[in-house]
Amino acid sequence: MRILVTGGAGYIGSHTVIALIENGYDVVVIDNLSNSSPKSIERIEQITGRPVSFYEADILDKKAMNDILDKEKIDACIHFAGLKAVGESVQKPWEYYENNLQGTLVLVEAMKNHNVKNFIFSSSATVYGDPEFVPITEECPKKACTNPYGWTKSMLEQILTDIQKADSEWNVILLRYFNPIGAHKSGLIGENPNGIPNNLMPYITQVAVGKLKELGIFGNDYDTPDGTGVRDYIHVVDLAEGHVKALNKIKENCGLKIYNLGTGNGVSVLELVKTFEETTGQKIPYSIKPRRAGDVATVYASSALAEKELGWKARYGIREMCEDSWRWQSMNPNGFEE
Ligand code: NAD
Ligand code: UDP
Repeated sequence: MRILVTGGAGYIGSHTVIALIENGYDVVVIDNLSNSSPKSIERIEQITGRPVSFYEADILDKKAMNDILDKEKIDACIHFAGLKAVGESVQKPWEYYENNLQGTLVLVEAMKNHNVKNFIFSSSATVYGDPEFVPITEECPKKACTNPYGWTKSMLEQILTDIQKADSEWNVILLRYFNPIGAHKSGLIGENPNGIPNNLMPYITQVAVGKLKELGIFGNDYDTPDGTGVRDYIHVVDLAEGHVKALNKIKENCGLKIYNLGTGNGVSVLELVKTFEETTGQKIPYSIKPRRAGDVATVYASSALAEKELGWKARYGIREMCEDSWRWQSMNPNGFEE
């Protein structure tokens, strides 16, 4: 099978491209490099020893999308491309709605034109908002989102659900990721945020490498065991593997499916910091800051459905996630830049 991977130069996309190639798939990558480097494609080639078909193209570009699908015989699409910074989405809602919603509509139309109707979408645990219950199952009701980024995920889930409902030839899998961290064992690819990181793990690794002075912990008065926020961190390589399993499901003509991809373990900010210090020997100075707007106390998955229906289960724990994030950061203090 030949798989179109949009956003394949990015963090999760690049790890998934490797997993696909290792599982015998042909891969075609589209990325406009707005949040990634062409070096990540070179590194994928270095890791897999195989050339990668790469198009520098924008999913908003109708002609480009149709031209690529004319040229490449594609069987399924895994759609990672999108803008993903929560805070930025509050400042630039129009850009987020245009890129994520319009971009996906253009992509889906081009696929429809070429009778390619197998689609895996990167959604997020953010659609559960402040979850009704934990561990979060796929039945947990979706809630109002607290930012435009979250709304793009929630709305796209609905749009793709309706498209599948109207035409049963479509197979659509919505994958709701929890908190991906970690990096490929080689240390050659990893998360490469622009500017000061918003997310916890890249902030920690940049403190460790000396680029940032100290970590601010956003609140220690939550209703959690140590007062800091609890999340379900998942190794990006496990997450990538989840996409390979989802493709097997697509081959069964699954119709519409929704799966959480998490480990089922809740880990607090302080626990993650402590584990990072223990596994890497790096000290992470921190101070307690006020809560961050929009944050909730506790988010972790039930991954039982993905285990039952996809035969997928996360293999790595937070120690490996910390070690691998640190290997990537310490080998590449400036990410993909020299
Ligand atoms: P990323 O920014 O590293 O990767 C996204 C890639 O898409 C980038 O390489 C970027 O250049 C590309 N892109 C953006 N807009 C594009 C466009 N219009 N045309 C072509 N390419 C475009 O992000 P990531 O962390 O790898 O996330 C991948 C997907 O997973 C995103 O849809 C994101 O919203 C979703 N997701 C991420 C997380 C997370 O914590 N990282 C959690 C849940 C969901
Ligand atoms: N967090 C923190 N300091 C930071 C970044 C994040 O204390 O610099 C906390 C945040 O409040 C949350 C957890 O770390 O409890 C995970 O945040 P992240 O932004 O990585 O993911 P989210 O679950 O919010 O999408």
